[in-house]
Amino acid sequence: MGIVVYNTLSRKKEPFNPVTPGKVGIYLCGPTVYKPSHVGHAVGPIIFDAIKRYLVFRGYEVNWVVNITDVDDKLIIEAEKQGVSTFELAERITADYLSAMSKLRIDTIDLMPKASEHIGEIVGIIKQLEAKDIAYASGGDVYFDVSKHSDYGKLSNRRLEDQEGQRDLQSAEKRNPGDFALWKAAKDDEPDEVKFDSPWGKGRPGWHIECSAMSQQYLGDTFDIHGGGLDLIFPHHENEIAQSEAVTGKPFANYWMHNGLTKINTKKISKSDADPEMRAALSKMTLHNLLDEYPGELIRFFILSTQYRRPIEYSEAEIESKRKGLATFYRLFERIERICEASAYVAADSHPDANADRLGAGANVQDGSLASASQDAFASFARAMDDDFNTAGAIAALFDYAGAVNRFIEQEKLDTSDSDSAKNDALVATTYFVSLGRLIGLFLDPPAPQTTSDDGLTDDIMQILIDVRQRVRKNKDFETADLIRDRLTEAEITLEDRPDGTIWRKG
Ligand SMILES: [Zn+2]
Repeated sequence: MGIVVYNTLSRKKEPFNPVTPGKVGIYLCGPTVYKPSHVGHAVGPIIFDAIKRYLVFRGYEVNWVVNITDVDDKLIIEAEKQGVSTFELAERITADYLSAMSKLRIDTIDLMPKASEHIGEIVGIIKQLEAKDIAYASGGDVYFDVSKHSDYGKLSNRRLEDQEGQRDLQSAEKRNPGDFALWKAAKDDEPDEVKFDSPWGKGRPGWHIECSAMSQQYLGDTFDIHGGGLDLIFPHHENEIAQSEAVTGKPFANYWMHNGLTKINTKKISKSDADPEMRAALSKMTLHNLLDEYPGELIRFFILSTQYRRPIEYSEAEIESKRKGLATFYRLFERIERICEASAYVAADSHPDANADRLGAGANVQDGSLASASQDAFASFARAMDDDFNTAGAIAALFDYAGAVNRFIEQEKLDTSDSDSAKNDALVATTYFVSLGRLIGLFLDPPAPQTTSDDGLTDDIMQILIDVRQRVRKNKDFETADLIRDRLTEAEITLEDRPDGTIWRKG
């Protein structure tokens, strides 16, 4: 079974067949860099980073382009408000975006072209559209005539007649109410730096044409996957298709993949936009604030735990529940490190050539049931990913497999046993687990040590509690011992009794 992809264009799952066998071109609409990134900006990059890693694993050569929109009305207005130049602001926000991407370990993007560096290509496409009488100039602006493109509306399933209600202030200058701007005439009060030369006078490109120009330049007339949030289907993606297909006469992107939107759900905030508490909560939701509070891997795990087409419910409770899920895996790694005195991360690093053949064969272990658990894990993982990149299903396979490895450790009593061959099996199985997770960008690095801002004070206090609990247990005061453990559990602190002493962890 090959990969199937849900295509917004056909509204069904289709077998994935790239234009050029063995190669995949992906274009994802990137950010308009006028304000700090929001958690929603991370969703597409996290999903497509996982998709790219998986496609590469499947043997494809993938070229993934994410554009930066650095010419835009909102950007001009915001820069003026802040008293800085448009490109100063764009550069600052782009740097902010990139640093968030790197904290999330999104490091598989091949190219991030900027709109401002592609004005020549954009003007070239508009000129071709004008020559075909599909675009027309009007008062220094240039519009796309939607009535000239018979396929208009095929992505969003809208018909032109349905769009009559969209008449806006500018419509006096348009032939049809649904026509959209390809080029916008410069306004007197705008800074010179955003006034670009064109055959229609000084101005700047519309948003939609930027993506048509940059995707064509880097991926060709027809490419494989175009991605973006559901909110971009109309008008942005519909307009990209119209522009590109009108110019080339060829299909634009073969598969349209749209991710669900982030829903912010917090009990603390009311429904009113005007509510200051709501505003405060939303402003807290910048990616960097989130990354200050939570590790990048947790945010990635949180996003990938939902199939990408579904809405993502963001709430602190959701993130906390994902933290516990991820901690299950970290505990297995710690356990292995303690038992085998070796890191599954390091072991996986030395097998970087994970390919379908190697992983498909399962973990190279002596124990029969562990071997078959690893084969089952791979089969479920690959089945989920092949089915429209269902990362949630892939993660479910990881949970099952981690359970199997833990059971093996218990069966073989590895916490106390000296069996080298069983220990080696446990290490190999866990290394295999790390390699599977890495196919969707998990477990690339060992988790950052819990940062303590209290100079080890918590550690000291915890050691006191552990010592007191040991003392009361020795005195057979189990009631008090249990009380200590229960109260710590309420505070989300877990005590683990081991042969060599008691350890504690958060969560
Ligand atoms: Zn776009």
